[in-house]
Amino acid sequence: SKYTKDDIIRMVEEEGIDFIRMQFTDIFGQAKNVAITASQIQKAVNNQISIDGSSIEGFTRIHESDQYLYPDLDTFTVLSWYEQQGKVARLLCDVCNPDGTPFIGDPRGALKRVLRRAADLGYTFNVGPECEFFLFEMDKDGKPTTKTNDEAGYFDLGPIDHGDHTRREICLALEALGFEIEASHHECAAGQHEIDFKYAEALNAADSIITFKQTVKKIAYANGLHATFMPKPIYGTAGSGMHINMSLFKDGKNVFFDPDGDRQLSKDAYHFIAGLLTHVKGMTAITNPLVNSYKRLVPGYEAPCYSAWSASNRSALIRIPAARGQSTRVELRNPDPSCNPYLALAVCLAAGLDGMERKLTPPEEITENIFEMNADERAACGIEDLPDSLEHALDALEADPLMAEVLGPHIYTQYIAGKEKEWEEYCTRVSSWEIAKYMVLY
Ligand code: GLN
Ligand code: MG
Ligand code: MG
Ligand code: MG
Repeated sequence: SKYTKDDIIRMVEEEGIDFIRMQFTDIFGQAKNVAITASQIQKAVNNQISIDGSSIEGFTRIHESDQYLYPDLDTFTVLSWYEQQGKVARLLCDVCNPDGTPFIGDPRGALKRVLRRAADLGYTFNVGPECEFFLFEMDKDGKPTTKTNDEAGYFDLGPIDHGDHTRREICLALEALGFEIEASHHECAAGQHEIDFKYAEALNAADSIITFKQTVKKIAYANGLHATFMPKPIYGTAGSGMHINMSLFKDGKNVFFDPDGDRQLSKDAYHFIAGLLTHVKGMTAITNPLVNSYKRLVPGYEAPCYSAWSASNRSALIRIPAARGQSTRVELRNPDPSCNPYLALAVCLAAGLDGMERKLTPPEEITENIFEMNADERAACGIEDLPDSLEHALDALEADPLMAEVLGPHIYTQYIAGKEKEWEEYCTRVSSWEIAKYMVLY
């Protein structure tokens, strides 16, 4: 690893850090933290900071609630955007039981478990996420609105793009945190943006997604805007996805690339794709976790709603971007940025590995626009519908034993219980659509 305990203690002193945020993530993907002052850094690096797990959603019951934060020293980062209120650094932590064993309900731990299985087979799992988000204006009480502050579209240039300078500032803030920004552009919808950072080993990538979202929100706020990763904030316009680009490396080589293979893809690449297609329905409650997620997965907005793959077609669930060699990768397009990145990457990897282990073959590539095919044509090509609601996604999650295995009994049970409650809550609410539709007519 990069840093020792002594390195951390020294950096805290040399950099004049006032506060250290000891961060972790609950099972629904919310970042949590305990802030300590620099005087507690000895305790922190020796895993002696405890939390009360009973107050964290989906963590522990009240009678077994003491948990300890084991900081991953390599995640030490100075949060340069905090500067005004004293210098702040953060450490991402694993959550452990009092006896030092990993807490089974820690989503970072769940990803680590699958990564260890891949590592035992000699694989490194690399991930490049493409995070989309909206920038909205705030009202005079500082509450977010759904008003966008620009009318620009896909890849448009300023000066129409008023969100542009905010996005640039976000990129600079991310770079200051050590991100390598590969691309940033305006997305299809007004007020919608995308920032892509360089692929990394999966644990690192999941950590980065958490930091990314916090940074985007923070810098947007400083510019008087509200950033949201809600998947479909506005009906009738594009939603926000988080496409996940994946590859496996072995001995420094991309195993999805085969210069002599069909489309220069290896057999393992096809097995991996088949694994994803086999499990995607069960995975959807994890990759698309909100009631609102399913309002994005509808035809017409470059978001997938059927299980199909294609070398180029953007209407497909899985796409193979044109790059080959070390950049060969599989792009899964249904995930959205509201997901817990640790759990999402864990289920993706497990599904892909399952396909490789069982040597599954994917159906034929779909080259036509799937949104223009009717149900019979889709069925004839072996294309299935993705779950169309959180409720159906939860049913599919429960029907896929691999998901239970990957998440582990604790997360699996807590996650389903929490999401079922969310669904029930939604179902009994009266929406603005109902008011508009029925109030006058009846
Ligand atoms: N916003 C689209 C989605 O929901 C993606 C658009 C794109 O990146 N081309 O996935
Ligand atoms: Mg993109
Ligand atoms: Mg995009
Ligand atoms: Mg993409």
